[in-house]
Amino acid sequence: MSTTTYSGVSGIQHEEPLLFEHAHEAPESINLPGVQGEVSTALTAFKRKTPANIPGLSEPETVRHFVRLSQWNHCIETGFYPLGSCTMKYNPRVNEQIARLPGLAAIHPEQPDDSVQGALELLYELQTWLAEISGFKDVTLQPAAGAHGELVGLMMIRACLDARGDTERRTVLVPDSAHGTNPASAALCGMHTVELKSGADGRIDLDELKAHLNDGTAALMMTNPNTAGMFESDVKEICDLVHDAGGLVYGDGANLNALVGVARPGDMGLDCLHINVHKTFSTPHGGGGPGAGPVAVNETLAPYLPVPRIVKDGDNYHIQTEAKDSIGSVLSTVGQSGVYMRANAYISAFGKNHIHQIAQDAVLNANYILSRLKDVYHVPFKGYCKHECLLTDEIQNKHGVKTLDIAKRLIDLGFHPMTVYFPLIVHGAMLIEPTETESKETLDAFCDAMLEIAAQCESGDTQVLHDAPLKSIRRRLDETKAARNPVLVWQG
Ligand SMILES: *Cc1c(COP(=O)(O)O)cnc(C)c1O
Repeated sequence: MSTTTYSGVSGIQHEEPLLFEHAHEAPESINLPGVQGEVSTALTAFKRKTPANIPGLSEPETVRHFVRLSQWNHCIETGFYPLGSCTMKYNPRVNEQIARLPGLAAIHPEQPDDSVQGALELLYELQTWLAEISGFKDVTLQPAAGAHGELVGLMMIRACLDARGDTERRTVLVPDSAHGTNPASAALCGMHTVELKSGADGRIDLDELKAHLNDGTAALMMTNPNTAGMFESDVKEICDLVHDAGGLVYGDGANLNALVGVARPGDMGLDCLHINVHKTFSTPHGGGGPGAGPVAVNETLAPYLPVPRIVKDGDNYHIQTEAKDSIGSVLSTVGQSGVYMRANAYISAFGKNHIHQIAQDAVLNANYILSRLKDVYHVPFKGYCKHECLLTDEIQNKHGVKTLDIAKRLIDLGFHPMTVYFPLIVHGAMLIEPTETESKETLDAFCDAMLEIAAQCESGDTQVLHDAPLKSIRRRLDETKAARNPVLVWQG
């Protein structure tokens, strides 16, 4: 398959100014009649002193503006999206149809339980499946994202420690390979974080762990497989060490895609696990949402689960709003219903007997990419990977080419870049996650592009790599400046 499927500017793809730059003088989009008669005195205090700052555009101009902008966007429906850690898998259309059924989409969280039994049943069913898939006793559907799940999990851990009288245990151990949300959640929960340096194999180093376990240890946060795509093969021993020291083990389940249907974190000795359902069980996500981060817990943490939660009472489902030791409410409703309907549909499509195929295909695809690229890109941690493979730019550095150049050139060759410079434990990281939904043809086209970039490097003619992207609507942007000084409001 040819790799020259350019995503460049074609004659019909328009440069698009900002809405305000587009606008005419008069706000033509709004044609309200003038005020008739007297304005109610009750409202005079709210009379505008300056005209509303509404851009003057007609309906077709407005529609075209947003549709053109949407065409600049890359999404999983336009092409391969190999962002490591983010699990950008294809979102089946049947999920969307189900989430949009009026009986699910048009109901209100405050409706009486007996008028929404079907929706509650689907949510309860998912809650039960997630517990079974992860190997835990119970699940809360409340957390609204993976990061929120981390906070909620740590709140339950803190409540459990407090109930034991362990009110001084406030240190959370976080491996240096962890996602940035892990230490942030611990800090938000009022805990103190201590970083664990990874071993030479990219995994948790047992001696490093032992050296940091003490009377102040509240928890270890572990991601398995970790963000280097490696399975923490000492997981059982790690959990035993933390438990023996009096702490609990928090599981970051963002990488459940590698395990689902094959192995269960609950069986490995963890105390709880958040599940990024938008990653493992598909929901269109990115740019910060939407998603959900249900947390599965073992017997130790179950008493502290948040409320409200869905319970089954005979053949009926209802929403329980109080529980004795609960940490309380972390969302105003039982959970992000639309995201959960999609997750329920995704799991149902596989069924109990086939759900392992998700993990097996995801791991196979990542290892296929690894095996095609391992001779030309540096592989920091040897051996098979799980659902994502980690490379670095060490070989290309000799020619002055960096991870950012490689990522930007991929755009010219028709691919969304992989995750770059994460995890932080290797220099110039490139984390590639193909997921189970990509074909061999797509994986080959991507590998061909990566090999083409490596060959370009070796040729010594590297200018094109430094200048890339050449074919996208925007060239290389100052991303640091954009992140540090975001201009989010029109100041015309
Ligand atoms: C995505 C991710 C998170 C955060 O989850 P969100 O749903 O984005 O809040 C945490 N840890 C890891 C390893 C992740 O990949």
